[in-house]
Amino acid sequence: MTFRTRFAPSPTGPLHLGHAYSALLASDMAQAARGAFILRIEDIDKSRARPAWEAQIYDDLAWLGLHWPEPVMRQSKRAATYSAALDALWQRGLLYECSCTRADIAEALSAPQEGAPLLGPDGLIYPGTCRRIHSLTKSDTRPTDAVLRLNMAEALRVTGHTDAQTMPLEFSESCHPQHIGTVRTYGPDILRNIGDIVLSRRDMGTSYHLSVVLDDAAQGITDVVRGADLFEATVIHVVLQKLLGLPTPRYHHHRLIRDDHGKRLAKRDDARAISLFRSEGARAQDIRQMVGL
Ligand code: GLU
Repeated sequence: MTFRTRFAPSPTGPLHLGHAYSALLASDMAQAARGAFILRIEDIDKSRARPAWEAQIYDDLAWLGLHWPEPVMRQSKRAATYSAALDALWQRGLLYECSCTRADIAEALSAPQEGAPLLGPDGLIYPGTCRRIHSLTKSDTRPTDAVLRLNMAEALRVTGHTDAQTMPLEFSESCHPQHIGTVRTYGPDILRNIGDIVLSRRDMGTSYHLSVVLDDAAQGITDVVRGADLFEATVIHVVLQKLLGLPTPRYHHHRLIRDDHGKRLAKRDDARAISLFRSEGARAQDIRQMVGL
C-alpha cells in the first residue's frame, strides 16, 4: 500500500517549531517512501478557529517548502459524516448522554480510590456518573446538541478486548528514527487510564477523536506522523477504528520540540511562531536546522 500521511493542524493559533517539525518530518517520510503528503484543516472548534490562522497555515507551510494536493479537507464541512457515525454508535448502545459539568466531575473524583489515576488524555478521567443513570433510561433517537460519551467497557467488550492478558489491543508503532514494532495495550488499562471519553461535544456535534479517525479513514491514510504527546490519544483512535470497522494506520510518534526550559511548545508560544522567525529573516533551511532535520 502506498505510503499516505497527513499534517492536520487546527487553525486556532500560529504554527510554531513543533508544528514545523511534525509537518516536515511527515513530508520527508512521504517523499522517502514515494508516497503522498496531505494537509487537513481541523477546524471543528468554531469558538477558536479563525480564517486568518488558516490562511497563515497555508502561507507558513508553503514557505517551508511543503506541497499538498488540493482541495484541502476541512473538518467543518464534514458534519454529516460525523453525525452518521454517532447515530450508528448510539443505535448500538455504545454512547450515553452526559450532563456533568467539570465541577461535578472534579467533585466526584475528590475521594479517588487509592492509586487510581486522575488524568487521562482528555483531562480528568470520567467517573461514570451519567453512564449509571442513562443505562436505565435510553431513547431511540440520539440527542443532538448534547455531550455524548463512549461507554468504554462496552466498546472493549464488543471488540473483544476486555481480557487482562490474552486479548490486547495492538497497533504498529515507530519512534524516530523508524523502528516499527507492535504496541500491546490491555482492556483494563484502557478503562483505568482513559475511561469514557467524549465523542460529541455540545457546540461541535463531534469531537477531535471521532473526526480524526473518520477523516484518516476517508483519506486513506496509511501512516500517521504525530507528536509523542498524542500517544494515549492514539490508543483511543485504535479502539474507535475497531468499533467502526475502519483500518488502523501505522503510527509514528515523534519527539517533542521543547522550549529552553524543557517545556513542550503550545499554541500560545508565539515566541516560537514560524511567522516570527520569518519576519526576522530566517530561511526554511534555518527552521529545519532548529528542529534537527
Ligand atoms: N489537530 C490536531 C493537532 O493539531 C491533530 C493531531 C493529530 O491527530 O495527529 O494537535
